Formats: sequence, structure tokens, C-alpha cells
Amino acid sequence: MPLLEIANVSVRYGAVTAVRDFSGSVGDGDVVVVLGANGAGKSSLLRSIVGLAPKAGGRVTFDGRDITRWRTNRISRAGIALVPEGRRIFSPLSVQDNLLIGGYGNTNRSEKARLLGDIYDRFPVLAERRHRQAGLLSGGEQQMLAFGRALMSSPRLMMMDEPSMGLAPVAVDTVMSTVQSIAASGIAVLMVEQNAAMAQELATSAIVMERGEIIEVDSTGRIKAGVGSLSGFVDLP
Ligand code: ATP
Repeated sequence: MPLLEIANVSVRYGAVTAVRDFSGSVGDGDVVVVLGANGAGKSSLLRSIVGLAPKAGGRVTFDGRDITRWRTNRISRAGIALVPEGRRIFSPLSVQDNLLIGGYGNTNRSEKARLLGDIYDRFPVLAERRHRQAGLLSGGEQQMLAFGRALMSSPRLMMMDEPSMGLAPVAVDTVMSTVQSIAASGIAVLMVEQNAAMAQELATSAIVMERGEIIEVDSTGRIKAGVGSLSGFVDLP
């Protein structure tokens, strides 16, 4: 059974249907990428999985448990972390305080200290700047911080909403290798992207959305080989 199973999920805001009847799954070791233009419903899909956007129908199962109606903090404790669009770091707070916020659900102090140490090992730039105000970091560093904050909850699945958005090409490369190393450390990844080139490098499978619906699914590795037809659907950088 896959780690995350999404069955016929729809998201509606009043009269607007943002996601219609979406089904898909993410297994351990997978990097599943959801591609699509602005407004395709990608963020709504991720937000609905963690209970931040209203599900109008469908079912979400994680690790064999039906989490469809669970509250966000319970879903987070169960092992799903969301790295939100635009990073949403707390600018006035220090880097370290931002990371500690990510571990709020964990009351075990020594475990929290260990996680913090792991994150500083993984992102030396965050260790160097641990007492600096987060708002003073570069865009790429802020994305590292958003990843680190999510890792503080020891997730089994990390969902990432357009991590390359607004970053310079060199920072996009760093983001890509970070996503790769997160996946290599045994965390399943469900990532939303508009950057098809980035997706081609990383994805074990890809789903293309348009106006709330799935229009193409590729689980054959074509994307990895870089010969998929996806570039026709999304803006290449
Ligand atoms: P983007 O890359 O711009 O975030 P997206 O693919 O993530 O695009 P969504 O943000 O999920 O798309 O938006 C899908 C549709 O739902 C759009 O038509 C959007 O205007 C609408 N929508 C999103 N959030 C809300 C909301 N809170 N209330 C009403 N409509 C919304």
C-alpha cells in the first residue's frame, strides 16, 4: 500500500472548483511532481491534504489511516510536513527560532536538540546564520530554512509548494540538490512545480494538472529521461 493515497479529492471555494476528482499516490522513496500553470489547483491540492483547504469530496489515506477529516496539527504529527508556497518564514525571528517553531509539536527536548543539530549539519549556511534575523537571508537561504523548519517535525512525507519560485538559477540548483538529498534520506516527496526542467531532473513520476483536473500522468520514467511531452504544458524557465 502506498504511503499517501489520494482518492477522488475535490476542492471547492464557494462556486469555484479548484480541484476536481484528483486521484494519485506517493510511495516510500517516490518523488512525485505535480506540474501545471498558475491557477491549475496545485496549491489547493496540497493544502487540502493537510486540512488547510476544504475538501468537497474524496478520501486521503496516509500510512494506512484515513486522515481525510483530521485537523492539520494531527496530520503534521502523523508525519506529513508542508513547505508552503512563498516559504512563509517568520522574518523578524532568528533562523533558530524559525526552526524551533517547526518542532513545536515535539515536547522531547533532547530529541529536538538532535534534530536541530541534524539540520545544521545538512545546511551549514543556517548554522552560520542561526542568530541572524530570518528576513535578512537571501531567497535561496530562506528556502533552506523552510525545508529545515519542515524537517524539524521528522516527516515521512514532505510536500513542497513551488520551492524554486522567485529564485535565481544558482539557488534553484541548490534547491534541487536539497530535494534530492531529502528524498535520499528516506523521506517521500510530493512537490508542486512550474519549473518543468527541475521536475525532469528529480521526478520518479509526474502529474500534469490543468484547471483543477489531471490531464496527464507519467509514471514510466520518461520524465526522468527528459523526453516527456510535458514541456508543452508548462512554462519552461
Ligand atoms: P499558483 O501557482 O498560482 O498557486 P495553483 O495551481 O497552485 O496556482 P491554486 O492556488 O490552487 O492553483 O488555485 C486554483 C483555483 O482556486 C484558482 O482559480 C484560484 O483563484 C482559486 N482559489 C485558490 N484559493 C482560493 C481561496 N482561498 N478562495 C477562493 N478561490 C481560491
